[in-house]
Amino acid sequence: MAAEKTTGIVLRVIPFSETSCIVTMFTRDFGKVTTMAKGARRPKSPFEAALDVLALCRIVFLNKNPDAMGLLTEAKLERRFRSATRSLDRLYAGYYIIELLNSLTDDGDPHPELFELSNQVIEQIDSTEITEEEVGFTLLNYELKMLEILGHLPMLTKCVSCGREKTTIARVSFGLNAGGILCGSCRGGESNIVSLSPDGLQFLLEMVGGQIGEQSRNSDNWNGQRQELFNANDNQNSQRELEGRESLSGATVWNPELENKELVDADAAGMEPDRCLKEVRRLIHKYITHLLGFQPKLYKFLGNL
Ligand SMILES: [Zn+2]
Repeated sequence: MAAEKTTGIVLRVIPFSETSCIVTMFTRDFGKVTTMAKGARRPKSPFEAALDVLALCRIVFLNKNPDAMGLLTEAKLERRFRSATRSLDRLYAGYYIIELLNSLTDDGDPHPELFELSNQVIEQIDSTEITEEEVGFTLLNYELKMLEILGHLPMLTKCVSCGREKTTIARVSFGLNAGGILCGSCRGGESNIVSLSPDGLQFLLEMVGGQIGEQSRNSDNWNGQRQELFNANDNQNSQRELEGRESLSGATVWNPELENKELVDADAAGMEPDRCLKEVRRLIHKYITHLLGFQPKLYKFLGNL
């Protein structure tokens, strides 16, 4: 019987019998793993205080066969989730990450990149590295990266059905069934359509491109980054689309009295990031609900974020 060593995030701890626990973890090397921790509830447990939800642990377990529950033999605490006693909003955010990992990943299906991402985001949420106001944005960023890693990221640059490039600056139709934006011709027969504003779509595109959050919104290269994003879209419509977006993003663009720096600031203000963030979070929550076939329980507790 092979002893497996890995690092895991504790997702669930269920008491079993008088002295034991059943522990589910999302591990770096084996994906989601459920093991029996014998004697974990005894006063002098070999696992000490490692088995707490959202804690990061180094573990050793015996895996008899893939269909049977493994046996946890060692768990050493690497990092505890301390916000559990300090901030309800941060705790809910942590629980939401657990719910997503539980619902969107399968047992024994490793995703090391998702493990690293989840570990990093849990640590951020539990630290003063981000403010309480930034937790919502951090969660959206996590949701999008998770969807990308798991192959569920929606199509956002062209019609998911016919592949036609988006050329208008009007609101777009996002098909939950189709998994992306739909052109006017293709949206006809589709159900489960959500309308998305042009600013919301652009915000989403820039988040997916990693261009919001890693650089200051008002930095001098903000427009340069946007330019790069649209240049990457190498088709004849891209320039037309870019012009449409530029004129959309603020009427001040054509005012010759404004200095370049002010243009950047006015442009950023025109984005109304809070409104875009809310709109895009609502859309992604609908999309995840549609993917899962049920609404995550934690949504109703994330309202303040
Ligand atoms: Zn189409």
